[in-house]
Amino acid sequence: MTQSTFASLQLCQPLLTALDKLGFQTPTPIQQRSLPLLMEGHDLLGIAQTGTGKTAAFALPMLNAIQDKGLRAAKKRPLALILAPTRELASQIFEDIRQYSQETSIRATCIFGGANQNPQIRRLEKGAEILVATPGRLMDLEAQGFLSLSAVQYLVLDEADRLLDMGFIGDIRKIAAMLPSTRQTALFSATMSKEIRALSAFLLNQPQQVSVTPKQVAVAKITQHKLAVPTAKKQEALHQLLNRDAVRKVIVFTRTKHASERVTKKLLKAGLSASAINGNKSQNARTRALERFKKGSDWILVATDVAARGIDIRGISHVINFELPQEPENYVHRIGRTARAGETGVAWSLVDETETKRLKDIERLIKQPIPPLSIDLKELPPSEDQPTPEPAPRQNESAPAPGPAKKDKGTDERKRKRPRRRKPNQGPSAQSKKDDAKRKPRRRKPQKVSQGG
Ligand code: ADP
Ligand code: MG
Repeated sequence: MTQSTFASLQLCQPLLTALDKLGFQTPTPIQQRSLPLLMEGHDLLGIAQTGTGKTAAFALPMLNAIQDKGLRAAKKRPLALILAPTRELASQIFEDIRQYSQETSIRATCIFGGANQNPQIRRLEKGAEILVATPGRLMDLEAQGFLSLSAVQYLVLDEADRLLDMGFIGDIRKIAAMLPSTRQTALFSATMSKEIRALSAFLLNQPQQVSVTPKQVAVAKITQHKLAVPTAKKQEALHQLLNRDAVRKVIVFTRTKHASERVTKKLLKAGLSASAINGNKSQNARTRALERFKKGSDWILVATDVAARGIDIRGISHVINFELPQEPENYVHRIGRTARAGETGVAWSLVDETETKRLKDIERLIKQPIPPLSIDLKELPPSEDQPTPEPAPRQNESAPAPGPAKKDKGTDERKRKRPRRRKPNQGPSAQSKKDDAKRKPRRRKPQKVSQGG
């Protein structure tokens, strides 16, 4: 495919200026293919894995149209509606749209459950061209009369497969019925399925289809390994993995809310700075946890699938599956949290005796076996509550660093984080590495770790 630029895609100047400020130089493949179709007014079914740039793919054409036509929303009557499955994802799309539209006077707002509805109502009352919403709160505020969907011209369903998984199909149908039938609709999903096909048939009008990933595929830039661990040893195995050199920013996935809390407590007890994010947490707690993780005050985020979907945070070096997901597709979504936007990443999965079937399903889906990580489990200490330092010094750790040149930078931030970064009783080489424990890549490549013993 020929390389197009955003300018050659006929986007208006305020959007081009914003994209330039954001450092977006060339459109990603899904953007290259979706933008012209959406700008021509087609309905669209987009299939693309995470991290491919779907947000701009659907947001830029609607921003462009609203800007070009000089459209202005009346109070409570948005012109564009974007549905997302979770609060986090909705806020992220909202933030992205604010960035893209920074040079325009287009107003966007965001509503989701679990937060006080009054500020949301006030913003709707003022009027916003673009509304990003989770289905539940949207239905709720509509039913209370704080919002009308009768002026919506653009509808987007982001992460539609997840919306379906979460049981929103009924809400989506009801919402669709409130919209004018003349609207333009785009539906994006990481995976294709019977259900997505059915939803498309219901929502889309003679859609064009754009698919940048042939069905399956775990992101190619991710080094994946599995580690067979008995259930009772998982926590300890996790601590050992976290202790590895290249691990600097990591999401640990558990299957249940309860497990995410339990794992987090034990990490904190071992002096590691972690926080949990799951559906039981208040919206405030979830936002705070994400912020801490984003900023680097915590370098470990322990998450359930629901809470982590679509989260786009740079510099996540590792994803660790403490437990394999119930549904194989979620494995792909989970590991897609690392290796965002051209980075590389590592995914490790702790697999116990009850998870063999799940593992097989995942390997079938990604069409490749996940190679085992060679770490000797006999070295795991017997007690879960007393994680001890690594049994043997790792050879590659003593390799001298290229130079201390950058050591002065960011002292404040280091000071704040250092005490919680690792246990104090580690060797000097580990200590010196702590100094670099920041969000930016450190000197060693993730691949090295996966080969090490
Ligand atoms: P998806 O929704 O497909 O998972 P996102 O829309 O969240 O992907 O984009 C993933 C990351 O890539 C984001 O950090 C986004 O800012 C960045 N990105 C998107 N499009 C471009 C582009 N054309 N050039 C550079 N970075 C981009
Ligand atoms: Mg997305």
